[in-house]
Amino acid sequence: MKAVVTGGAGFIGSHLCDYLVAHGHEVVVLDDLSTGSERNLEQLIGNPAFELVKGSILDKSLVGDLVGDCDTVFHLAAAVGVHTIVDKPLQSLRINLHGTENVVEAAASHGARFLVASTSEVYGKNDADGLTEDADRILGSPLKSRWSYAAAKGLDELVAYIYGQETGLPCVITRFFNIVGPRQTGRYGMVVPRFVAQALAGEPITVYGDGTQRRCFGSVFDIIPAMVRLMDTPAAYNQAVNLGGMEEVSIKGLAERVIELTGSTSEVRLVSYEDAYGEGYEDMQRRMPDTSLAADLIGYEPQRRLDDIIT
Ligand code: NAD
Repeated sequence: MKAVVTGGAGFIGSHLCDYLVAHGHEVVVLDDLSTGSERNLEQLIGNPAFELVKGSILDKSLVGDLVGDCDTVFHLAAAVGVHTIVDKPLQSLRINLHGTENVVEAAASHGARFLVASTSEVYGKNDADGLTEDADRILGSPLKSRWSYAAAKGLDELVAYIYGQETGLPCVITRFFNIVGPRQTGRYGMVVPRFVAQALAGEPITVYGDGTQRRCFGSVFDIIPAMVRLMDTPAAYNQAVNLGGMEEVSIKGLAERVIELTGSTSEVRLVSYEDAYGEGYEDMQRRMPDTSLAADLIGYEPQRRLDDIIT
């Protein structure tokens, strides 16, 4: 396979590049390095099977040139992180929406297979036990800025799906649920790296809200092979597929586990959502994937437990 990985200098994208190159594929990364970093790819720089192109998915002609030379596209570039999205909703919307349209269109016109990284955020404030892909309360309140990311990702899914239907584009939509692993930074509000950094520095671990909200964290090392297998599975085309871990934990429980595993003397400090993100911020109480569709399609079974993910 010769693959374009948009957002390949980011956390998930760089692990995908490692995996693809290690499995004998050629990879071209398109990344504007806004939240990603060349450092995430230093192990691949100089490898003849790998190329990093610095540029934006908003540059339609660049996207067309790169995709035109490849047979597969993993589209991961996006404006991410709660702070980015809340502070710059318009910019986030532009990148996530128009950028995706450029990439899908290029894949469809050049006959490349296409995967778009979507998110559990499209389920909105749905607290159901184990969210299935057909959960009926998608996109909680798209007009609140917290949800502009979810709204754009939901539209990304729709654009990809419609291209799949009308042009026959082989297209997979993956909905990630709180993916964690090496190279993820806490700078953009990602909770596990932030807690670990605070614990290692002996600073208070700041838990937003009352800490009873529950999440499942998935390992990047479980989802990368799953993405590649889904791309090779025609039964997965034109479907949205949940990917994540299955071990549920409260955010306060996560903070306590981080303290224990790092041997830190940090204490847990509760900070209101309003103080953390400003007025009107909303978060859902529970978010847990049902991954049985991925299990049916590709035998997906997450291997890493929460403690492995933290350490
Ligand atoms: P990340 O910030 O590490 O990666 C995103 C990458 O996209 C970065 O390298 C960034 O520089 C690049 N990028 C941003 N705007 C760009 C543009 N206009 N042109 C080119 N590149 C651009 O984040 P991540 O956690 O690796 O996320 C990867 C994808 O997975 C994103 O689409 C994100 O929405 C999705 N996702 C991630 C999670 C998670 O838990 N990490 C959960 C749900 C969805």
